[in-house]
Amino acid sequence: MPPVFRFAPSPNGYLHLGHAYSALLNADLAHRAGGKLLLRIEDIDETRCRSEYETAIYEDLGWLGVTWEPPIRRQSEYYADYRAALAKLEVLGLVYPAFESRAEIARFVAESEPWPRDPDGAAIYPGQSKALTETERRERIASGAPYALRLDMESAIARTGALQWAEAGIGTTEANPAAWGDVIVARRETSTSYHLAVVVDDALQGVTDVVRGRDLYESTSVHRVLQSLLGFAAPQYRHHALILDDQGEKLSKSTQATGLRELRAQGKTPVDIRRMVGLD
Ligand code: GLU
Repeated sequence: MPPVFRFAPSPNGYLHLGHAYSALLNADLAHRAGGKLLLRIEDIDETRCRSEYETAIYEDLGWLGVTWEPPIRRQSEYYADYRAALAKLEVLGLVYPAFESRAEIARFVAESEPWPRDPDGAAIYPGQSKALTETERRERIASGAPYALRLDMESAIARTGALQWAEAGIGTTEANPAAWGDVIVARRETSTSYHLAVVVDDALQGVTDVVRGRDLYESTSVHRVLQSLLGFAAPQYRHHALILDDQGEKLSKSTQATGLRELRAQGKTPVDIRRMVGLD
């Protein structure tokens, strides 16, 4: 079977040089391996995603010369798939509703410092809602209280055992999902989270090779747990270096200097962009 790669941008801003690098690297690797490249639009965050950014993604990738095999998968059209995966986790008894707001968690953590952080620097969920009884949970949900569905990570790990993944250039890499604590897998108003959607989509799209930025390296531990619980095969991973700005900072979608649209308006060509990201 030929390998299947994917580029999976979120339409919450315009693409910049970092996205160009990721998209071009995926396209080059797919081409070299005689495989195919898929495009996925990760638009579940409906407060931040906008259709004009999505249109711009198609335009910018087209300009760069990146081609993908249709159909494009827009996550917002596949909530039923994420709900089905969530239901499997629920049947396993590994998901529970947590009712604390972000502010409540932050207040608790501020009073309990030093408090452990996840690899992204966010406080590990303190776990108060885990102690609620089934009746209390049902009552709170029925009262309309907002909640997030969290994965009981300790029980999940007890079920999956130790997990690894194959990382290009490194080899077998030990997953460390405990470092994340009880991650959110869905919310009251959205039946998925990034972690759940990405795992479901990679599996349903038959993705064999995940090539994405180094900033998502640690998340792979969570993805491995979800893949194992849901019975999905693990793709191979390649977490590439991030393109940094002059100050050595990660590029942001709001920094115009490195936006593909601005660079194009300045007269840069797709060949210039390849050179700028080191893909000559
Ligand atoms: N949608 C994510 C982003 O734009 C990428 C997710 C992934 O490649 O797994 O950062």
